[in-house]
Amino acid sequence: MNNQYSIQLQKYEFGRALFDALDRNDPELLKLILDQYRNIPTNSTVAEINGLTPLHVAALKGNLECCETLLDYGTNIDINARDDHERTPLHIACLYSHLSIAQLLTRSGALLNISDIYGNTPLHYVILIGNTEFINWIFLKNPNTEVKNKEGKIPTEMSKKKNIKLLVFKLMRPSLGSDNFIKSRNSLKNIELISAIPSQPSCDSDEVPEFVFDSKLSPSDFLVLEQLGKGSFGEVFLVQMKSTCKFYAMKVLKKQKVITQNLIRYVMTERNVLTYIKHPFIVGLNYAFQTASKLFLVLDYCPGGDLGRLLNKEKVFSEERAKIYVCEILTAIEELHKRNIIFRDLKPENVVLDQEGHALLTDFGLSKEGIQTSQAANSFCGSIAYLAPEILRQKGHGKAVDWYLLGVLLYEMLIGVPPYFSNNKKQLLSNIQKAPLIVPSHLNQTTKNLLIGLLQKNFEKRLGFIGDAEEIKNHEYFYGVDWDMVLKKNLRPPKPVMKNDATNGLNIDFEEETETNENSNHLQGWSFVHE
Ligand code: ADP
Ligand code: MG
Repeated sequence: MNNQYSIQLQKYEFGRALFDALDRNDPELLKLILDQYRNIPTNSTVAEINGLTPLHVAALKGNLECCETLLDYGTNIDINARDDHERTPLHIACLYSHLSIAQLLTRSGALLNISDIYGNTPLHYVILIGNTEFINWIFLKNPNTEVKNKEGKIPTEMSKKKNIKLLVFKLMRPSLGSDNFIKSRNSLKNIELISAIPSQPSCDSDEVPEFVFDSKLSPSDFLVLEQLGKGSFGEVFLVQMKSTCKFYAMKVLKKQKVITQNLIRYVMTERNVLTYIKHPFIVGLNYAFQTASKLFLVLDYCPGGDLGRLLNKEKVFSEERAKIYVCEILTAIEELHKRNIIFRDLKPENVVLDQEGHALLTDFGLSKEGIQTSQAANSFCGSIAYLAPEILRQKGHGKAVDWYLLGVLLYEMLIGVPPYFSNNKKQLLSNIQKAPLIVPSHLNQTTKNLLIGLLQKNFEKRLGFIGDAEEIKNHEYFYGVDWDMVLKKNLRPPKPVMKNDATNGLNIDFEEETETNENSNHLQGWSFVHE
């Protein structure tokens, strides 16, 4: 009884704190609260009025950062949750004309054609409100234009304004030309749309055919060429999209593993983070889809391999080359920190090189909150070496963890082993917490100073603790670096040696069936196709 009471109390406190943070439009505070109460599902608390979930409220208030924070840090967030009017957060964003939020929600898996108790879909409201930019955008998403509301109106009948009627008419016009095709497009099942893709690659177009965007993909749309890597979460393959011949890196995760190890929120984080972040030094996510037993992330392919493998082969890099990677990765982390995301898992294996040799972060499975240290500590010494002292102490950590790991990465690139390295795990763990840092004397003095600043055991004294990326950029090591040039990919790292592309293909069967919403294993909010 007591226990139940305390859970109720916790929920109550959580709800109050959460809605208070939303009320103040304060994403930082929101994040702290979500972190503190991560054992409570975020949607278990709803507003007293209209049964709005926290995501509804953030959408209503038009606060994009709060929406991102909820999607990223919330526990078991249902992006299509209904309020008392059966409206989803997307309905609300449309009704209040918050375009960037509607875009974020659809990118993150919100369903477009849900009807509320009045029978209105998001499209009904977009046309009713009459924001032309919004209308143009939503038509690109190919919404169902034939749903009738309770008054018998289809969305296009929602506006009486002449200019809106004209715009809608224009946007609908393509369907007048090829009436049969477009009509059938709305009623056809996705799976049938996929079968419309030629089975032989035609290779003459650089563009993904439009109908791929509004249909679900399945593994059979890709040719699997070779395995690129295998990590703690899943396997990564080089694949080619059959319809466009484009290469991608496809990360495949087993649902079973994700579910039994309680990792859903970590893989959702990876998917969510990658969905809304576009940055020159962070791998782009193009599609996410699922089958009954697996989750798929289709990422930009980086043919230069990962830094872990390169370091294995080359042992060390020149100071010049290491500096280019450090500059690039620094800007990627800067971007993540601006969005209140801690990467946490910076290590050579998670940095991949594109065809020009630029360094990109991949693997967002651990960002924000780690899978517990115990798991990492059971793995081999290489990854233990990439644990910051405050992570080992398990007394909380912040963004400065990433700056420490940047220091470890730079150290390893220049010296060939991470700092404190020992083949004995216990020794290594104790060294990270207690041993003095040894920096070889042959390095440039400014490099040594940077390493000492970044590898400070006490994170409060660490370079970047106060001023984050800006503080680090101001360090003498970076004198003369033109950060705009960095972001424009104008630095010139060595071109990677690329393997010949495997053309035969691996014969891997990821299951042929495409998942349906009815299936109990279906992971809500996972599937995604790029705008
Ligand atoms: P895990 O979470 O299992 O560690 P990662 O996302 O780190 O998975 O991927 C495992 C390996 O696959 C990486 O170390 C890298 O070698 C390779 N890899 C990952 N993403 C890409 C990519 N976009 N392009 C090329 N190789 C990649
Ligand atoms: Mg990895």
